[in-house]
Amino acid sequence: MTIAALIVAAGKGVRAGGSVPKQFAMLCGKPMLTHSVAALSSHPAITEVTVVIGEGQEVYTRENLGESVNFVTGGTERRDSVRAGLESLAAKGVTRVLIHDAARPFLPAAVIDALLEALDHAPGAVPVLPVADTLAHGDATLGNNVPRTGLNRIQTPQAFHFDAILAAHRVWPEHEEATDDAQMLRRAGHDVMLVPGDPMLEKITHPQDFAAAEARHAPPLVSRSATGFDVHRFEAGQELWLGGILISHDRGLSGHSDADVALHAITDALLGTIGAGDIGMHFPPSDPQWRGAASARFLEHAAALVREQGGTIDFVDLTLICEAPKIGPHREAIRASIAAILSLPVSRVSLKATTTERLGFTGRGEGMAAQAIATVRVPE
Ligand code: MG
Repeated sequence: MTIAALIVAAGKGVRAGGSVPKQFAMLCGKPMLTHSVAALSSHPAITEVTVVIGEGQEVYTRENLGESVNFVTGGTERRDSVRAGLESLAAKGVTRVLIHDAARPFLPAAVIDALLEALDHAPGAVPVLPVADTLAHGDATLGNNVPRTGLNRIQTPQAFHFDAILAAHRVWPEHEEATDDAQMLRRAGHDVMLVPGDPMLEKITHPQDFAAAEARHAPPLVSRSATGFDVHRFEAGQELWLGGILISHDRGLSGHSDADVALHAITDALLGTIGAGDIGMHFPPSDPQWRGAASARFLEHAAALVREQGGTIDFVDLTLICEAPKIGPHREAIRASIAAILSLPVSRVSLKATTTERLGFTGRGEGMAAQAIATVRVPE
């Protein structure tokens, strides 16, 4: 038995705001169409997957789906496209075929199994879901309810004995509209079985459907917090950089880089959230290229590492510990600077300052300390 799958992807409609046909729009990191190609290709019973694309989409398809995907060019109506796909399989000894819409990208293997099993008992099978909402006639005002009993929502793929569905397409009157392939098979006098569909198979039509599908299929995120701590020594004749801002003061902090104690503490906190070591591992003081470097680079690097892992930075809280300078007058500028480096709204960056009551090295004004905590959400 040779089982083939046809994916109808000939639509010209573009996703709102985009220029790319909807079936090629990105969904969960790849063109929508490729999700159903993968689901059907990886099913052990299916030997051949053919995509029916729209006229003029050939080059685009090749560039976006690669060499491994078979495709044929469809026609103006959906029915013409399915027909073109079926005819392309006619000489290949195909015995059963699944016809699927590219707009239903998430196709559970269990639905395919149920459809193929049903084809042992009838020449056609479709997945259905019950109707949950109350149905009623009406336009501007409400008309009578429609009893839901016995009503079904029809999904794809629809599965057929190949010769039967090809024959049904070939005899279909040229100018008559066809609702779907299963109805065409019924018209030819065949039974079509119902198998349980799956809510995962919902059609993706509107821009909000893309967003909802992204959210539904996103990996679960876990919250992680990590701290960072740093100290630099005050020295006369140095510039004082705090949070990426040059502060006017009679002394500055000394260190290998610009000694921005605030950014160093936050960098370590962010690296901590993904277990990526500390700032010294990424930017060794022994490496001359970091001499005098602007510490914004270190923080940008740490933020990029978090985001490369699919992480989101939720919040950063920083405490600066010194007797002088007074931080209050610079607080908002420093917050804004840190937020800009991290590409976060200012509301997600907090800055506090404290003295140590003239105790210890900070109390004696020998140096400055900073401690930070960062909270991120990362894939589990
Ligand atoms: Mg440091």
